[in-house]
Amino acid sequence: MADSVASLGGEFGFINLIRSRITDPAGICGIGDDCAVLPMNSKTDLVVTTDLLIEDVHFILSDITAAQLAYKSAAVNLSDIAAMGARPIGCFLSIALPKNVTAKWADQFIESFIAICDRFGATLLGGDTTSSKGPIAINVAVLGKVPCGRSKLRSSARPGDLICCTGTLGDSGAGLDVVLSRVASAEKAKLDADAEWLVRRHYEPTPRIQEGLLLGELEGVHAMMDISDGIASDLNHILKASSTSSIQLGADIHVEQLPLSSKLRRWSSANDKDAIELALTAGEDFELLMTISPDDFDRARGRLASLCPLTVIGEITASHKGIRYMDGDQELTQQFAGYTHF
Ligand code: ADP
Ligand code: MG
Repeated sequence: MADSVASLGGEFGFINLIRSRITDPAGICGIGDDCAVLPMNSKTDLVVTTDLLIEDVHFILSDITAAQLAYKSAAVNLSDIAAMGARPIGCFLSIALPKNVTAKWADQFIESFIAICDRFGATLLGGDTTSSKGPIAINVAVLGKVPCGRSKLRSSARPGDLICCTGTLGDSGAGLDVVLSRVASAEKAKLDADAEWLVRRHYEPTPRIQEGLLLGELEGVHAMMDISDGIASDLNHILKASSTSSIQLGADIHVEQLPLSSKLRRWSSANDKDAIELALTAGEDFELLMTISPDDFDRARGRLASLCPLTVIGEITASHKGIRYMDGDQELTQQFAGYTHF
């Protein structure tokens, strides 16, 4: 039998294969960051991102409302704009719908999509619409702008930087667990308030646009990305992009410092789940992950004070490769892996 696409090294092996065949045109940053960066004029760079959501891979149609699906399709893309420290300016929506989708569903989808895009300044500028003989497929692209050369790239981490994140981690992963259990169960028991909140964090992540803009203005904020696959995967992208032939970067993550919501803590102990593992591996939190010069952390946290917490979860080091997970002084033997397709 022929080798499957998984044999290329999964999702990232495939992306690396594509990348190895492309040379970026001068002045353009293409594949490899949360957005591509292109010069727009002498003062401004254009950033562009796109994400695809497929029924039964990214969502279960019987569980998610049309409004939630539209919100999430836009939010996951806006999150990549936030990760660059950029301001959204426009978006495109391409959608393939089975013929049995109702007019009411379509109307609710579009109303919600336009509402979130308007809220963040990303005017709907176009797209494409087709029927589907299989699952619903939704592809959104968002454009943003950022002062020339000021995009926050994955490749800017330095040894000694603090590793920080916005908000709380693991909520979305727990929300997904709740969703999968209720889809599997015959009788639809009413969710308690914690489970309801976790499901909302899964279906309605907050794009950290305002936070990204405020952090983007600080020179001391070095590398930045959003957390879509879990820190255990995403932080490796920063380490790889920021390493050079002479300096290989690694990271220490202090698991006791991970910001966990009280709802996730309560839900995890009631349901015998590992909140730390969810926070590191489950992904789809769409919080911002960044490295900050220690001298600038207080300023960065102060800037976000009225919006969301900013927490130090570790530091960048040149003393070892990869991620070391520490609990106090003890290195954990448990290994963690983020989400990957294939
Ligand atoms: P994110 O989670 O931030 O959306 P991904 O992990 O999906 O980023 O992608 C990593 C990088 O690879 C991005 O720069 C993205 O544009 C690029 N990429 C992913 N899939 C493809 C593809 N099929 N063709 C070209 N570039 C791709
Ligand atoms: Mg991203």
